Amino acid sequence: MPSEAPPGGSILVVGGTHGNERHAPWLLEQWRADPSSLTDHGFALELVVGNPAALAAGRRYIDRDLNRSFDPVLLADPQQQSLEVLRARALLQRHGPDGVAPALLALDLHSTTASMGNSLVVYGRRPCDLALAAGLQQRLGLPVYLHEADAAQSGFLVECWPCGVVIEVGPVPQGVLRAAICQQTQRALEAALAVLAAAAAGDLRLPPQLVVHRHLGSVDLPRRDDGSPAVLLHPNLEGADWRPLRSSDPVFIDRTGSPVPLGAALPPHLPAQETYWPVFINEAAYGEKGIAFSLTTKESWPVQQPWLQDLVSLSRRLQRGEPL
Ligand SMILES: [Zn+2]
Repeated sequence: MPSEAPPGGSILVVGGTHGNERHAPWLLEQWRADPSSLTDHGFALELVVGNPAALAAGRRYIDRDLNRSFDPVLLADPQQQSLEVLRARALLQRHGPDGVAPALLALDLHSTTASMGNSLVVYGRRPCDLALAAGLQQRLGLPVYLHEADAAQSGFLVECWPCGVVIEVGPVPQGVLRAAICQQTQRALEAALAVLAAAAAGDLRLPPQLVVHRHLGSVDLPRRDDGSPAVLLHPNLEGADWRPLRSSDPVFIDRTGSPVPLGAALPPHLPAQETYWPVFINEAAYGEKGIAFSLTTKESWPVQQPWLQDLVSLSRRLQRGEPL
């Protein structure tokens, strides 16, 4: 199934975009050996390791984060020759919408050290992504982290395909394989394919509402001049992903044991809210990005008919193996 290029549009399933997240590459090997669990619906799948060099090295990346390297300006700049930019270009040349073996939809499988459980990350508000997220939320009850409007974090892989979401599972330490994480990832991928198949068959009934956790911004620990943390994350916040957080709630603890409330830690550009919902709390990979946790606001959006129409149209092209 995955070794031969399909005649037209396929579904790109990527694991190991970050080389220290090992469960998805492990699953890719199992699916290559026995694709039966993924092939029931007649879609052509491309199973691809995102960053093979980083996976071999057991590192998140070699030169730069591959999942921040799909920025069109960066990709078009001939001066940019880092390993990950070259890899991003190669993936797009082969499996991009205009590639030699084009994919129409990308499912990028990640893990996190944060206690996020199984969730979806959606970038922006493309109708097709929102319909897929609504279908998955209905089937599996997954929370949806809607990431948008953050200039400091851009260039995500799935944004380069007409439709695509990240399936995120945690907590799991970097470099560690855990059965439960693999099972949750498999379940989410199978559910995504089932949603697409139902859409193609005209049987998909989306829920009336999509609940999203919309990204507002990120908060870092106060740091010393050398960049080392001056305080610690408050114990109450550890593992509290997706739980409501108010301005008076402690988020840091200083050397004397005094708590620092969220209200005193909020960067000025973040909108004032009564309640926030934090995600990616103390994610190991985000220390270098200056992110101790990100804040979202929880919203319920009416599911719109054009979202479904876009997903139906795309899923039918996928089943016919048609390019764009
Ligand atoms: Zn990742």
